[in-house]
Amino acid sequence: TSRWSLSGTTALVTGGTRGIGQATVEELAEMGATVHTCSRNEEELNQRLKEWESKGFKVSGSVCDVSSREQRVQLMEKASSVFDGKLNILINNVGINVWKPTVDYTAEEYSTLMATNLESSYHLCQLAHPLLKASGNGSIVFISSIAGVVHMFSGSIYGATKGAMNQLTKNLACEWAKDNIRVNCVAPGFTKTSNVKPLLEDKDLVDRVVSRTPLKRFGEAQEVSSLVTFLCLPAASYITGQIVCVDGGMTVNVFP
Ligand code: NDP
Repeated sequence: TSRWSLSGTTALVTGGTRGIGQATVEELAEMGATVHTCSRNEEELNQRLKEWESKGFKVSGSVCDVSSREQRVQLMEKASSVFDGKLNILINNVGINVWKPTVDYTAEEYSTLMATNLESSYHLCQLAHPLLKASGNGSIVFISSIAGVVHMFSGSIYGATKGAMNQLTKNLACEWAKDNIRVNCVAPGFTKTSNVKPLLEDKDLVDRVVSRTPLKRFGEAQEVSSLVTFLCLPAASYITGQIVCVDGGMTVNVFP
């Protein structure tokens, strides 16, 4: 098989109906992978599945709230049955945020953010491990954030979940290398998705982001999914344990 193709591989992408997850599903499918994805909204999921079918992509999907342990188990059982027990690629993409000063967070907000962003990724890795190992050639990509690398106004709980994903990338890369599973992490900066739409209306904030960003604009979801896809290719076979920022240079620009 080609070093630049995913033909014959299987992939599970969480949160694939919008934004970075959607772009990732489409790019993996374009490269030849068979993909399973999930989201909470059945109507939107079915809509996407129809669009993908009409484009000739091999994508299936199930409704799953990844913050629920029980639903995560069901999701992996489904993926296992669709892919005959063999998974090449796991993309831990789902992430949510609540922006607040640290002193204002409630215990419930803490639990929800931890469960959705961090615990879901951790548990899905545990559940996927036998399938990734069985495939003989596994690749995990976490979608963290530049907020897990540097401080941002995005809030401390979100930053903590993303920082933990960055560390988990290194732990699992070393622990599971013997099983032929590579583990990497993509840390996006400001990317135009439904997630950041409200931000785009705040002109002052947009100006601050742009002035700090050497490339002078927000990113597009496809500019993140292209790296995610690359990390899963045979061409990336010696890359593991890495965290790469896709942020137009924002995090290396300390004094704009
Ligand atoms: P979007 O809000 O555009 O899309 C999120 C996707 O995840 C949707 O398909 C959504 O569907 C699904 N989803 C959300 N919560 C759950 C859940 N509990 N269970 C299952 N599916 C869920 O997000 P983005 O594409 O912007 O973000 C993707 C990742 O990138 C996140 O981890 C985010 O933290 C990270 N990121 C994004 C940045 C940005 O600027 N956009 C910057 C840095 C990091 P539904 O709501 O129907 O369930």
